[in-house]
Amino acid sequence: MIEFILNETDVSTDLPPGMTVLDFVRYHKDLKGTKIGCREGDCGACTILVGELIDNEVRYRSMTSCLMPLANAAGKHIVIQQTDRQPPTANRQLVSGGTDLYVQRHDEMAESAAMPLLYNEELRGIRDTGEHIEIGASATVTDLLESPVMNAIFPDLYKHLKLVSSTPIRNMATLAGNFTNASPIGDMTVWFLALDAEITLMPGTQPPSAAAERPLKLRDLYQGYKQLAKQPDEIITKIKFKKPNADFRFNFEKVCKRTYLDIATVNTAISLQSEPPAVSGGLTRISNVHVSAGGVAPIPLYLKETSAFLTGKEVSEETIATGNEILQSEISPISDVRGTEQYKRLLLRQLFKAHFVELFATESNE
Ligand SMILES: Cc1cc2nc3c(=O)[nH]c(=O)nc-3n(C[C@H](O)[C@H](O)[C@H](O)COP(=O)(O)OP(=O)(O)OC[C@H]3O[C@@H](n4cnc5c(N)ncnc54)[C@H](O)[C@@H]3O)c2cc1C
Repeated sequence: MIEFILNETDVSTDLPPGMTVLDFVRYHKDLKGTKIGCREGDCGACTILVGELIDNEVRYRSMTSCLMPLANAAGKHIVIQQTDRQPPTANRQLVSGGTDLYVQRHDEMAESAAMPLLYNEELRGIRDTGEHIEIGASATVTDLLESPVMNAIFPDLYKHLKLVSSTPIRNMATLAGNFTNASPIGDMTVWFLALDAEITLMPGTQPPSAAAERPLKLRDLYQGYKQLAKQPDEIITKIKFKKPNADFRFNFEKVCKRTYLDIATVNTAISLQSEPPAVSGGLTRISNVHVSAGGVAPIPLYLKETSAFLTGKEVSEETIATGNEILQSEISPISDVRGTEQYKRLLLRQLFKAHFVELFATESNE
């Protein structure tokens, strides 16, 4: 039997003396404030204080609990980090697919009172209401890929969405999770910003009702880096965008270090309506234009000025060049591991041109 004091409690255990103190406190005492890191004593995540009685005085030394057998705890005072546990009824942690939460906050999630949303029937489904396309907030990227409604509107859906992570992640990754994690390079956020989509928010503490719904333009959700115009208890319930007409065109571009299975360095999307030339032999004109970009600001960006400039313009080299100048004035990329500021500016310049090549190349060749 090994006996010692753990924080303020006397402990006696007949578990194997070779078990580490780290595993004992986490898995047998359910105290998860002491973290697992390298398990080699280097990172310090599992550091504890060990008090030893010397000359009638307790002297404390820091030690790494991942390398300390229970046998060495005998007769000592072990002081570990306590976790502030959330009562199960507090501001419960919303979780959809979990593909962001469990990467960012794995240990915290292990102890949280998770409120699951992925399979909530009221948050699922993709439907054409005649005026809008309405999508349940728990729709996954795969749900979009398999939706006849979406495929009818976006002929390049498969080509574009294949650029988002991998099949298993696409099967779990929801739209609400992508919007709420507020990553400046969220692919689905950039996609729906370019549709000028609207989200519906509802307090998670109240029963669902139309009166409690709060509509918000997706572009207005982002106020600063990871700062949202949303209360912590508000749930995104649905996303909607105006049903496009036959002249609708959409394009999505993403550059990563690898083409597939990677997050974006820069991504961008555009939606517009093409209109016939004003005069015979003239150029195609565009209206209802919305352009978005990721990786070029602290938030995923709706490019307001660029979109306003393009509206009503003819598709010409001059329009694209001027549009690109306006776009460059709207962004503020920083140099980081994914590229320098200059590189990101250059990428977006090229991707903006690529939108027009993708959408209008056939016409200019005729
Ligand atoms: C290996 C890997 C590859 C990835 N690749 C990509 C990629 O290529 N492109 C990309 O954009 N992302 C990528 N991601 C990130 C992630 O998959 C997406 O952001 C995904 O859409 C998150 O959705 P989720 O349902 O898993 O979110 P969760 O992890 O469940 O939640 C994320 C956040 O959203 C909140 N939340 C969830 N649902 C709601 C709701 N209905 N209302 C309010 N808040 C809610 C949660 O509380 C949490 O704060 C990748 C992740 C992994 C692990």
